[in-house]
Amino acid sequence: AKAAGRNTLCFYDPLMQAAVHRRAALELDMRIGLEQGQFELFYQPQVDRGRIVGCEALLRWHHPQDGFISPAAFIPLAEETGQILPLGDWVLRTACEQLARWAQDPVFAHLSLAVNVSPHQFHQPGFADQTLATLAGTGADASRLELELTEGLLLRDIEDTIRKMMLLKGHGVGFSLDDFGTGYSSLAYLKRLPLDQLKIDQSFVRDVLTDPNDAAIARTIVALGISLGLRVIAEGVETEAQRAFLERHHCHAWQGYLLSRPLPVAEFEALVRGWATP
Ligand code: C2E
Ligand code: CA
Ligand code: CA
Ligand code: CA
Repeated sequence: AKAAGRNTLCFYDPLMQAAVHRRAALELDMRIGLEQGQFELFYQPQVDRGRIVGCEALLRWHHPQDGFISPAAFIPLAEETGQILPLGDWVLRTACEQLARWAQDPVFAHLSLAVNVSPHQFHQPGFADQTLATLAGTGADASRLELELTEGLLLRDIEDTIRKMMLLKGHGVGFSLDDFGTGYSSLAYLKRLPLDQLKIDQSFVRDVLTDPNDAAIARTIVALGISLGLRVIAEGVETEAQRAFLERHHCHAWQGYLLSRPLPVAEFEALVRGWATP
């Protein structure tokens, strides 16, 4: 009763009430936006030894009134409300359709495509089967698909997580651990997960040249990845000096504004074409 009383009180706080309204409105808008095709995937290139080897799909929302809304603003809410499930399905299907199209063209056929998967989405009982069904339905090559998981995922049912990963891996799907070093990490779990890649979070890359702690963390993540037999990719690389530092310390790959922001598909394809034919 006491807790309920506190909740009721919150509703009379006009600021809080405005926030509740905003959330409800945003949730409804997301549902409508999905029906009306307001979401789009942008693609950011990933570079390995001077070649564009793949890209990461990043969600964009063109809201009819509010304009472009950043995923940082709506993904957490989508997670809370469950709207991430239809949204995540749409992302995965759209990404697989794109992979299937690229497979038809020798300029793009080698590209891998990384897709962000949120914990709520991954922990759905049918996630692995549904992903396999989407791959089969779109005709995409599973071995070109990489799923980016975050450490937050590991807070829940590690056995089930490993089982799902193994099932998908059996079909060729790859796995990256995103934002590595920022969340809940247990090296014991890391060892058990059938990962292919660690992704150094951009918060460590940003000041890698000026902050000795960030430099030490970045170097340690690379060394850890290598010793576990994993590929390591750095995100948020904005300067040539950052790229050179990472290369010097044997980081395999990178992505960031230094090469390109995430781009609409046509612009991304133009970039890859230009890169392929010097
Ligand atoms: P993330 O997965 O860590 O993605 C990296 C973010 O860094 C992206 O922000 C990207 O645009 C940005 N970025 C890339 N290069 C640079 C750089 O050189 N400098 C800086 N400062 N930033 C860079 P974005 O696109 O706003 O996405 C934010 C977050 O939203 C993502 O972080 C991811 O957690 C989430 N997200 C995006 N798309 C999806 C999706 O389809 N599904 C799910 N579940 N989450 C998504
Ligand atoms: Ca990511
Ligand atoms: Ca990341
Ligand atoms: Ca990040």
